[in-house]
Amino acid sequence: MRLHLLLILLLLFLLCSFDIQNQTIDYLLNIESKEHTPFHIKSNVKELMLELETRYQKKIEIVIVENKIGPVGQVRVEKEKLIIEIVENAQDKNELLLHELFHLKLFLMGVPYKIGWDIPKNENWQKNIEYLSWCDDMIWDKIQHYYFYPIINKQFNENPYKFFKKELDYYLKRHELPNLHEATKELSLAFYYLQTFVETNNNKYLKKYESFLEKNYNSLGIEEGKYLVDLLKKNDFNSKDSFVLLFVKCFNYINASTPINYQIIIDAEFENSSIVIFRFN
Ligand SMILES: [Zn+2]
Repeated sequence: MRLHLLLILLLLFLLCSFDIQNQTIDYLLNIESKEHTPFHIKSNVKELMLELETRYQKKIEIVIVENKIGPVGQVRVEKEKLIIEIVENAQDKNELLLHELFHLKLFLMGVPYKIGWDIPKNENWQKNIEYLSWCDDMIWDKIQHYYFYPIINKQFNENPYKFFKKELDYYLKRHELPNLHEATKELSLAFYYLQTFVETNNNKYLKKYESFLEKNYNSLGIEEGKYLVDLLKKNDFNSKDSFVLLFVKCFNYINASTPINYQIIIDAEFENSSIVIFRFN
């Protein structure tokens, strides 16, 4: 009798603990499957996220970061995951997320996901790297936007051009562009010309920016800006190399005395994964 009671108690205990264990696992699974993004993600953007996670074999982590000067969104491919950073005061985070997802989409086509600069490690190294990173931002990033903004517009019925139009309107009203330095002024104005072309996709804005340069900056940057825009217009984007070659053409035009060449390195991080290294000739 006692033994029976003991056995029943033991059985009850085992059942209970099994149940508790199961509940704990369910609870954990629920927690894991819950969304933790602090903003609403539209269903078609979610679908794209899932597609990319499958193809990369990596999870996407969205990180909201403090406001800062510079890009409002960024994406990084890491060993374990894909990190997308979005600044906290950015408006329309859903669209910024979509923007970063499209960079990831391009990397799956073989467009390099990382840029390396093979330059001598001398006393000018830090300054040189800062300049080259600026060129990456102002050319490499814009080349990608030129390719995928029309696709976002068509396939997702979103307007990726609204962000820059707003920014440009603000500066045109103030009659000056921010953070211009004497040594790189002309180039900054030319880069802004390129950005206006790519990120407004609107001739009226390009004309407005041109007359702004005529009035306020003695037409500085217009000639170079037009040349860069022509290079983009002429590009066919038929291969992963065509993206890189276009960057080299733009870079060598604005840095004619220090031209570069490139080497694409295939690695096994994800399908079609590649890195590009630039060197001076
Ligand atoms: Zn971008």
